[in-house]
Amino acid sequence: MTNYADFHRRSLTDRDAFWAEQARLIDWKTRPATICDASRPPFVHWFAGGTTNLCHNAVDRHLKDRADQASLIYVSTETNQEKVYTFRELHAEVQKMAAVLLSLGVARGDRVLIYMPMIAEAAFAMLACARIGAIHSVVFGGFASVSLASRIEDFTPSVIVSADAGSRAGKVLAYKPLLDEAIRLSAHKPASLLLVDRGLAPMERSPGRDHDWAELAQRHADVQVPCVWLDSTDISYTIYTSGTTGRPKGVQRDVGGYAVALAASMKHIFLGEPGETYFSTSDIGWVVGHSYIVYGPLIAGMATIMYEGLPIRPDAGIWWSLVEKYKVTSMFSAPTAVRVLKKQDPAFLKKYDLSSLKALFLAGEPLDEPTARWISDGLGVPIIDNYWQTESGWPILTIANGVEKQASKFGSPGVPMYGYDVKIVHESTGEELTEPDQKGVVVIAGPTPPGFMQTVWRDDERFVSTYWSSIPGQQVYSTFDWGIRDKDGYFYILGRTDDVINVAGHRLGTREIEESISSHPNVAEVAVVGVADPLKGQVAMAFVVIRDTTAVHDDAARLKLEGDIMKVVDDQLGAVARPARVRFVTLLPKTRSGKLLRRAIQAVCEGRDPGDLTTIEDPSALQQIKDLLA
Ligand code: ATP
Ligand code: MG
Repeated sequence: MTNYADFHRRSLTDRDAFWAEQARLIDWKTRPATICDASRPPFVHWFAGGTTNLCHNAVDRHLKDRADQASLIYVSTETNQEKVYTFRELHAEVQKMAAVLLSLGVARGDRVLIYMPMIAEAAFAMLACARIGAIHSVVFGGFASVSLASRIEDFTPSVIVSADAGSRAGKVLAYKPLLDEAIRLSAHKPASLLLVDRGLAPMERSPGRDHDWAELAQRHADVQVPCVWLDSTDISYTIYTSGTTGRPKGVQRDVGGYAVALAASMKHIFLGEPGETYFSTSDIGWVVGHSYIVYGPLIAGMATIMYEGLPIRPDAGIWWSLVEKYKVTSMFSAPTAVRVLKKQDPAFLKKYDLSSLKALFLAGEPLDEPTARWISDGLGVPIIDNYWQTESGWPILTIANGVEKQASKFGSPGVPMYGYDVKIVHESTGEELTEPDQKGVVVIAGPTPPGFMQTVWRDDERFVSTYWSSIPGQQVYSTFDWGIRDKDGYFYILGRTDDVINVAGHRLGTREIEESISSHPNVAEVAVVGVADPLKGQVAMAFVVIRDTTAVHDDAARLKLEGDIMKVVDDQLGAVARPARVRFVTLLPKTRSGKLLRRAIQAVCEGRDPGDLTTIEDPSALQQIKDLLA
């Protein structure tokens, strides 16, 4: 086995040779002429001159050796459906979807927005776009109209693929009314909607614009649609981050670099071998779903489980029953889901045969030690934390056990992955902090590796100004997370430098929630903070200054207004964004320069010392909040 430190060093000092080697993990129509073109930093072009196709690598390439092996395994405990698609069947389904999209006029470079529940057709749609060179943008199927509208407007899709409804804990959430409302709100109007009817909710159809998937699929049942050979640097998809600073950022990815990055990560990090089974419990609306439900496992020739449902329904053994049934070898989830399981009978962890499982990978938020120990003891498999971002597309920090077996340390996601030159710098001087245990901002020195975002969709300027301009004196990519590195080179992530709330794995910008609450006519000002919650990780708390104080003259009136405000958030952003409590104050704690002291509010809510308050304009504002919570 290779020594990991050497492997990592070579990825930086002998970059082209290293990545040329990784590029052999995928199929190319034309081999790349250049490996890494970083002549115009911070932009990087990977494998320029090469032509390839993500769908070819995920599907067609495997027909030769494993046409009759499982590829997509769809399991829904919401509708009690289970269906295994072989690679041959997946190939047929994806071609059908591609033919239907072509029939709706979608051409190479056109945009298709996918607003779907976790059903097989969502994966078919993604792969079909990749096949014909259309750019997809998957929007999480729980988002309400306002969030969806802003994404439609920014992405300008010609077609939207959707379904009648999603389902959560047996409760149907109709999508079509949300979608219709979003289109009404958006200045951009898609030409066509392609609708999968699951028979869960009635759909109103707009003739000429709205098409039924089943009907069109039947018409294109046996059509062959070849893969379009795309330039490596063409755009494969965009995915929107939660958007702390108002307008969400469309993270844009390429084709060839992404395919190589995923193939390499499946081998070096996720221990995936062709013919094995991968199970990621994420959702296709998030980046993990893109990289490690759909593209990564399939590119590796693995079967991938797409699971629609909760981790505790019909009981807390459901995931482990799937591991046993499908002989899952690698599993990927999030700490928040593990904390949900932790509330249940631990006997469920021992009920099934988990001998196929090599490791459980966790990502998305800090993994606390009690949670890590509980699941590791319960399952008896290694727990591998991994740290990354929507922007990176694959892990930045973890342990690459496929290169060299290395010990994990509780509380640390691990060490920088190959291709990543990760540093810790002082937030205001920009000075690199090289001594162990110094706290600073975690940054990445360019050129960024394959798979990393190319730019912000249609906004190169925003890409540079948001990500590459926050550290004084140098052009480095800021993760906007605090971190330290210990004497052995292991990193620890200490939280974010900006404000985002993480409710049960859903990332919500405090700004987005504040903007939504502000749209209530009686709200003058609002501050939203994330407060630690043992179950959900964090919950949102809103502090509101109202215009007409007679609206809160007694408890009943206060409760009613609280409910009304929560409903505004439900309607605009979806129930995941709803604050756990809305409290009324007469003023908010601010700095003299007028900036909200969110961090101080958060500290008070969590019973901590609010820290340095020398810049506070009126200390009584914070006292009000303390008194409310007392
Ligand atoms: P936005 O960029 O719009 O504010 P977001 O940062 O919440 O949204 P993601 O890209 O999904 O959206 O999340 C990445 C962030 O999640 C990281 O920057 C980090 O703060 C946190 N994170 C991810 N994995 C880990 C981990 N293993 N340990 C600690 N924190 C993690
Ligand atoms: Mg982020």
